[in-house]
Amino acid sequence: MTSAHSDPAPVTVRVPAKVNLELLVGPLRDDGFHTLSTVYQAVNLHDDVTVAVNDEWACSVVGPYADVVPTDSNNLAVRAARLLADETAIDTPVHVTINKSIPVAGGMAGGSADAAAALVACDRLWSLGLTTEELEEYAAELGSDVPFLIRGGTAMGSGRGERLAPVLARGSYHWVFAISDIGLSTPDVYAECDRLRGKAVVPEPRPNSELMSALRTGDPHVLAPQLSNDLQDAAISLRPELGSLLESGMEFGALGGVVSGSGPTVAFLVEDVEAAIDLTVALTATGAAREVRKAVGPVHGAHVIPARVD
Ligand code: ATP
Repeated sequence: MTSAHSDPAPVTVRVPAKVNLELLVGPLRDDGFHTLSTVYQAVNLHDDVTVAVNDEWACSVVGPYADVVPTDSNNLAVRAARLLADETAIDTPVHVTINKSIPVAGGMAGGSADAAAALVACDRLWSLGLTTEELEEYAAELGSDVPFLIRGGTAMGSGRGERLAPVLARGSYHWVFAISDIGLSTPDVYAECDRLRGKAVVPEPRPNSELMSALRTGDPHVLAPQLSNDLQDAAISLRPELGSLLESGMEFGALGGVVSGSGPTVAFLVEDVEAAIDLTVALTATGAAREVRKAVGPVHGAHVIPARVD
């Protein structure tokens, strides 16, 4: 790795995972995407992404999921850094190190989170001084969820999910995520959703005003019945065990449960931190999920953190 004195210090950015409180899937568009209306919430399952000036483009992944994340140019964080370099005529390669703690391929947008983090980190490393709006525009080129992971908090997404609008949300919500081993690919889930809908005319999705009102109360009991995901039936159709997992979580005291994004992670909303611990223990004991993690939302989007002193 290059270590000339003039190189800027490495930059580390912490980035959250997301859960969709509502995911409404509209008609299939001509470009192959579906029109979406979604409400995202950022939760405190984090990846840390560090960028350091290097002689060539490189990537390392550390942490519990390291062996299932690519380190070549398919890594979304590397793609994000290279896109930003191309767009801003920067000729300084970086080594991207991802400390990965967001479950991979779980519908929690971990790859998109790393892309968001890489944009924010490279903007700082290369002293580009881009605004959040400019970073979100580059983010939208990388994926539908990437702009939200820069912004964080609770926000509404339209278009493919990349056009963001603020949502007024009070309070903090406690979540328990049941992370399954069963593979579920996002394109397969959308295809199954289309298959289940058959020839039915699908209206343009419109945000649910009761969900917006619920978020203003800050009360998880009010929010829980408003959680919804149009992809849930498709995910359960492909993996019926997700239906049983949802039932188990509700029997063990969750206020509400929903498949996260295209799955297979199931997100449960609970009353408070004690309820989160109880549900985590109960679901872990069933063995129905590979891993059960508690989290709190909303939290900030991708942001620079002080360098780690190990
Ligand atoms: P989404 O919620 O956006 O559908 P996901 O949470 O289901 O995404 P990811 O964790 O983003 O899925 O990973 C999807 C695939 O992307 C992985 O199987 C992996 O091969 C690839 N990938 C590329 N870069 C990354 C990255 N930085 N982190 C995780 N996965 C990555």
